[in-house]
Amino acid sequence: MSLVAEINRTTCRKCRRCSGTCSNGTIERAGASFRVVAELCSGCGACVDMCPWKSVKLVSRQE
Ligand code: SF4
Ligand code: SF4
Repeated sequence: MSLVAEINRTTCRKCRRCSGTCSNGTIERAGASFRVVAELCSGCGACVDMCPWKSVKLVSRQE
């Protein structure tokens, strides 16, 4: 099963830790928040570990 990161925009505090961690440049600014570019995400989970507010999780990729 392939996984992809997903950001909870409600609880995200916009600290940028996740986007700074992702070596793929997968997390980008989207207006007042951030979004994951699913095509670039390897599902490594580094961003999940980095978020102090547990606002990133890995979910099953929608095929
Ligand atoms: S690390 Fe968490 S709180 Fe910070 S920008 Fe990313 S999702 Fe939002
Ligand atoms: S799971 Fe890995 S590749 Fe995907 S956004 Fe997070 S750090 Fe980047």
